Amino acid sequence: MAHIDALNRIVSTVISPVSRDIDQLANFPRAALDALGQSGLLGLFSAPEVGGMGLGLDEASQVVECIAQECPSTAMVLTMHYVGSVLIEKYGPVDVRRAIAEGRHLTTLAWSEPGSRSHFWAPLGTARPDGNGVVLNGSKSMVTSAGEADSYIWSSRPIAGVESASTLWLVDTRLAGLSSPQPFDGLGLRGNASAPVRAENVTVPATAMIGTDGTGGDVMHSDALPVFATLSASVSIGLMEGALQRAVTHVTSSRFAESGSTLAELPTVRAYLARARIRASQARTLRDDTLAAVKDGRVDTLQRVLEGKAAAGEAALEVTDIAMRVCGGAAFRKEAGIERLFRDARAASVMAPTSDVLYDLIGRLMCDMPLA
Ligand SMILES: Cc1cc2nc3c(=O)[nH]c(=O)nc-3n(C[C@H](O)[C@H](O)[C@H](O)COP(=O)(O)OP(=O)(O)OC[C@H]3O[C@@H](n4cnc5c(N)ncnc54)[C@H](O)[C@@H]3O)c2cc1C
Repeated sequence: MAHIDALNRIVSTVISPVSRDIDQLANFPRAALDALGQSGLLGLFSAPEVGGMGLGLDEASQVVECIAQECPSTAMVLTMHYVGSVLIEKYGPVDVRRAIAEGRHLTTLAWSEPGSRSHFWAPLGTARPDGNGVVLNGSKSMVTSAGEADSYIWSSRPIAGVESASTLWLVDTRLAGLSSPQPFDGLGLRGNASAPVRAENVTVPATAMIGTDGTGGDVMHSDALPVFATLSASVSIGLMEGALQRAVTHVTSSRFAESGSTLAELPTVRAYLARARIRASQARTLRDDTLAAVKDGRVDTLQRVLEGKAAAGEAALEVTDIAMRVCGGAAFRKEAGIERLFRDARAASVMAPTSDVLYDLIGRLMCDMPLA
């Protein structure tokens, strides 16, 4: 398959060589995104009629999983782009759809706010009609690719109607009034350029609305959540595979001087590795069943989507913890590449909906209670 060949080439020639700098220097993966754009992979979800690949969630999951083994920051930037691109493909203007398909446009989601915290579906930022346009005001707590993306899918309260609902907007990141004053210097996913973004009297055309006024929650739930949760799970799976592969390489090559035996000859080390392998395989199996549920429109799709992200996010915490344990002091050295995956797994797990929010939602589904 042509997209897999292109992907493998980009991972080995563009992503892998700079992966350590992306983490240590908190560099945004611009070269990787340029290469992904040139190969058509930024337009994976774009329809062929606008020049895109016309592929779906299965292929996108493969792509982000493969990249996450080498650079989870790049994989998460691409994940946010893919989710935004699905919304633009369905609701956005043809010129932006074409720009995404041609690899000239990077997008992302600007939903989390300091006021509504994990409950991103209930933003506090406002949208006020003004002549032919709409004026946006609000504060986002963390936006992946802040200041680097070409557009934000921005959430606000609706122009009219109930306060708990929301409206989504396609916002050009070059508009006056947008600022992102604090660069990201975080524990993990350090290359994401995830930072707060403020909108002060940002005027967008009324046509920038995604869907209709007050339907942001429905778009988040029906169009964005299955894509984000499944791709986020795929990033966690890739990250686990990367940690396991590095841990196995280390324990099978590091020897005791006296006996010449390797760390892998310790039964405890092998048992820990086996536990980690099972956790990663469980997460993969659930993710694959989620993909099948989405494709077939099964009745349990929503539950699977929520379970998939929670299971993979939590498994990645455990698997990277075990990789650190079995590799001992060596795992703390940056060159082993394990402590970086340990940190990245932690950052990925707090991206909303967090595991604790997912547990609440899954429990509600089980008890036949309303979700919000
Ligand atoms: C690297 C990175 C990139 C990010 N990128 C983006 C992005 O591109 N776009 C975007 O919109 N946001 C982004 N975020 C923000 C992310 O989604 C938020 O961190 C997340 O919403 C958590 O919000 P908070 O920090 O306000 O946590 P809080 O809401 O303060 O949560 C604190 C704790 O309370 C728990 N909690 C909260 N509500 C409930 C509940 N109902 N039930 C049980 N437990 C609960 C949480 O699980 C958590 O353990 C990013 C975050 C990070 C770390």
